[in-house]
Amino acid sequence: MSLSSSRKNPRVLFVTSEVFPLCKTGGLGDVSAALPAALRELRVDIRLLVPGYPSVLSGLKYKRKLAEFDLLPHFPPTTLFSSRLQINESVSVPVYVIHCPELYQRSGGGIYLDDNGQDWPDNARRFGLLSKMGALLASDASPLSWVPDIAHCNDWQSGLTPAYLHYHPGKKSASLMTLHNLAFQGCFSPGEVARLGLPPESFNVHGVEYYGDMSFLKAGIYYATRITTVSPTYAQEIQHEPLGFGLQGLLAERRNAITGIINGIDTTVWNPATDPHIVKKYSSRNLAAKKTNKLALQREMGLEENGEIPLFAGISRLSYQKGYDILLQVAPMLADLPAQLVLLGKGDQLLEKQLVTLAQTNPARIAVRIDYDEALSHRINASADCFLMPSRFEPCGLNQMYSQRYGTSPIVHATGGLIDTVADLAPDTLLDEPASGFHFRKMNADAFMNEIKRAVDTYYDVKLWRTLQRNGMRKDFSWRASALAYLSIYSLLMQR
Ligand code: ADP
Repeated sequence: MSLSSSRKNPRVLFVTSEVFPLCKTGGLGDVSAALPAALRELRVDIRLLVPGYPSVLSGLKYKRKLAEFDLLPHFPPTTLFSSRLQINESVSVPVYVIHCPELYQRSGGGIYLDDNGQDWPDNARRFGLLSKMGALLASDASPLSWVPDIAHCNDWQSGLTPAYLHYHPGKKSASLMTLHNLAFQGCFSPGEVARLGLPPESFNVHGVEYYGDMSFLKAGIYYATRITTVSPTYAQEIQHEPLGFGLQGLLAERRNAITGIINGIDTTVWNPATDPHIVKKYSSRNLAAKKTNKLALQREMGLEENGEIPLFAGISRLSYQKGYDILLQVAPMLADLPAQLVLLGKGDQLLEKQLVTLAQTNPARIAVRIDYDEALSHRINASADCFLMPSRFEPCGLNQMYSQRYGTSPIVHATGGLIDTVADLAPDTLLDEPASGFHFRKMNADAFMNEIKRAVDTYYDVKLWRTLQRNGMRKDFSWRASALAYLSIYSLLMQR
C-alpha cells in the first residue's frame, strides 16, 4: 500500500549519513547539501534526515523537539528534533535530526571510524537506527503530520530503509536508493538481522543476505522501488565484473529500475569570469586571457615561461583508481613533444615519491606539487590547455567538469562519468554532440599517449581548438540539470 498522493510537488525524505558543512567525509556530504537545495528551487518539498553527531547538534542553532521514542524496539532511547540548514544565500532545507546519545555522541573519532581508524563496533546499530527512522517517518506509523511520498536513501548507511519499509505492514512511501560508492557495502554478521529487528526470512539471497553476511547496501538495492547511480555509463558498468564489486548479478536483475544521473558542480564557485583565485578572469569570449594565467602558473611552479607551449595538468587523489601509474609512464614522452605538465595530488606514498622524482628529471617541463590545495587547483584549471584524467574507473568525476568550465579540454580514459561528460573529438561530434575533449579506450600508456599527441596536433589548429574549448564551456553541469533528472524519477515514483 502506497502513501503517494495526487500532490504535484513530491514530498521527499532525503536519508543521509553526511551533509556539508555539518558532517562530511567525502562526496556524499557535498551531494546531500547541493542536490536538496537545487530540488527545493524546483519546488520539491525535500527534507533531510541525519544522525545527531556532536557536530550536527552544535552546528544547527534552533532545534525543536518533535517526538520521543523511548520504546523503539531494538534501539536505545531516541529523540527526533527539527531544524533548518542554510545551504546558500537563498536556500535553506528542513532537517530532522536523530538524537540518540548512546549511538552518536562520541568524544573522539569520526562519523564512521574511531581514533584508531577502526569502524565503530556498533556501526550496524548506528546506521540501522538511521535506516529505521527513515522507514518510520515514511510510513503510516510516523508520529509526524508531514509524511513523504518518497524515502530517498543514499549509500549503505541508509540501505536498510527500503528493507524496513518492505516489512512494514501498513501504508508506506516509495523508496529510491542512490549509489554514490559501491565499494562500501555495510556488511555485518548474520546475528545483526535479529538485533536490528528484521524478520528471520529477510536473511535470504532474496533479501539482506550477501555471501553469508548481511549487507545494508545489498538490502537497499534489493528492496528499493528504484535505484540511481551517479552517471548513465557507470549504471551500465556496475552490472558487470569488475565494477559491480560482487553486486553485478543483482544489479543486472534490477536493470530496468536503475537510472544514471550525473552529479552537478557548483557553477558559482567554478566560474572563470568571477573566480577570485585566478590571476586573470576570462570568459568564452576572451579565451586569449588564459595565456596570462598560464604564464603566472609557469612562474609559480618553476616551469619555463612560455605562453605557446601546450600545458597539460592533473589534479587528483593519488590512488590506483586514478591511473597515475600510467601517467608516470607517458610523462617523459609528453615533455619531449614538447609540452609541459603540472600535477597536484596527495595520497598513495609510493606514487607521491615517484611523481617527485619525475619532476626532478625535467624541471623546465614537469612540475609536481604534493598537497591538497583548493586555490591552486583553481589556478591550474584556469591555466592549463588540457586536463588529464586517466582513471581506471570513475563513477562520475568532478574535475573533468571543472576543466571544461575553464576552457581546458580533458583527455580521459573512456569510463563511467568521464564518457558521459566529455565528448570525444571526432568528425561527427563537432556537429551532433559538440566535442569537448579526447577519449582513450584501452587503459595503457600507448593509447593514452596517442590521445595526448592528437590533442597537441589539435592545439596548434587554433580555430578548431577554440571550438573545442567553447563547446566544453557551453555545457550545463549545474545542479539544476541534475535536480531536474531526479525530479523525473520522483514523478515516476509518484505515479506508482
Ligand atoms: P574522487 O571523489 O574519486 O577523489 P572526483 O573527481 O569525483 O574524485 O572529486 C575529487 C575532487 O577533489 C575534485 O574536485 C578534485 O579537483 C579535488 N582534488 C583532488 N585532489 C586534490 C588536491 N590535491 N588539491 C586540490 N583539489 C583536489
